[in-house]
Amino acid sequence: MSTPVPFVTSLAAEPAADWRRALGAALPGHRICAPEELDAAERAAVRVAVVANPEPAALAAFPALEWVHSVWAGVERLVGTLDPQIRIVRLVDPDLAQVMSEGVLGHVLYLHRRIPEYLAQQRAETWRQLEQVAASRRCVAVLGMGHLGQHAARALRAVGFEVLGWSRTRKTVAGVETFGGTGTLPGVLARADIVTVLLPLTDATRGLLDAPMLAHCKPGAALVNVARGPIVDTAALLDALGRGALSHAVLDVFDTEPLPQGDPLWSHPSVTVLPHVAAPTNRDTASAIVAANLAAYFRDGTLPEAVDGARGY
Ligand code: NDP
Repeated sequence: MSTPVPFVTSLAAEPAADWRRALGAALPGHRICAPEELDAAERAAVRVAVVANPEPAALAAFPALEWVHSVWAGVERLVGTLDPQIRIVRLVDPDLAQVMSEGVLGHVLYLHRRIPEYLAQQRAETWRQLEQVAASRRCVAVLGMGHLGQHAARALRAVGFEVLGWSRTRKTVAGVETFGGTGTLPGVLARADIVTVLLPLTDATRGLLDAPMLAHCKPGAALVNVARGPIVDTAALLDALGRGALSHAVLDVFDTEPLPQGDPLWSHPSVTVLPHVAAPTNRDTASAIVAANLAAYFRDGTLPEAVDGARGY
């Protein structure tokens, strides 16, 4: 008899039926189902669930749950709230890294080519050519050199930018000057024309870019946050933008999503607002990865690498 695997999400934006179809096609012989399709005995027997950023409480229906496989890369909603015995496996997908790199490149080039200023000039019907430098004279910092950050750093380097990579532990990436540890962050910020955030949201990164840390940024630097909103202190960011200490922020992620109507970020002249679209998961490639991990588990109990609960990512 096929093993039922619930797909759990609390987000209306996640097309659960499409996910179940894609996962089912990638994992023949297993029943990918909605939680409500399971009877009490089946729920009690569930060992693994596939999840898309669910309310942790939604998983309480499965008392024997051993692990969850997220189809999202960011799992901060589950870390620290799920029973620590339950392993959390997050999505690591080369397709996601490629799409994220395209997003980061797009945002960095938008800033590098001064498009926000040209858009303001267009609104004022002003024809003025601004000075343009080559990418090699622009320094871009990538904060977070994990799966996504390293890919983005390489893509930025390939265009010719000077690239600084910062993470908890120092990495080695060809052509990228790398740094490790919180103590090195002020120096990285002081050199970067554009700061790109690709960190996970954890206790250590929440509010990392607060007023004192943003004060280390090079005057007139720009910020790209494609990671999670609360890593940047929004009030401190607005203050820095208002004073011209920072020139522009491209924000794909926010403290509250969707960004509430009337939020000052919507109409701020130095902010570009995007609705969390930097790297949407590709259902087909993600389903193939999840299915391979589930198949190995059902075959011989092999478990994929899990999030480190203490580190939070
Ligand atoms: P990884 O876990 O692979 O990488 C995380 C990186 O951040 C690592 O280099 C890690 O350092 C570093 N890091 C973590 N904590 C700290 C810290 N306190 N100080 C310094 N460095 C730190 O994650 P991914 O690259 O796969 O994803 C990054 C984030 O991107 C996700 O958590 C998610 O929030 C976000 N994301 C956003 C999307 C969007 O559409 N906007 C889509 C997908 C993901 P070390 O290697 O030394 O441990």
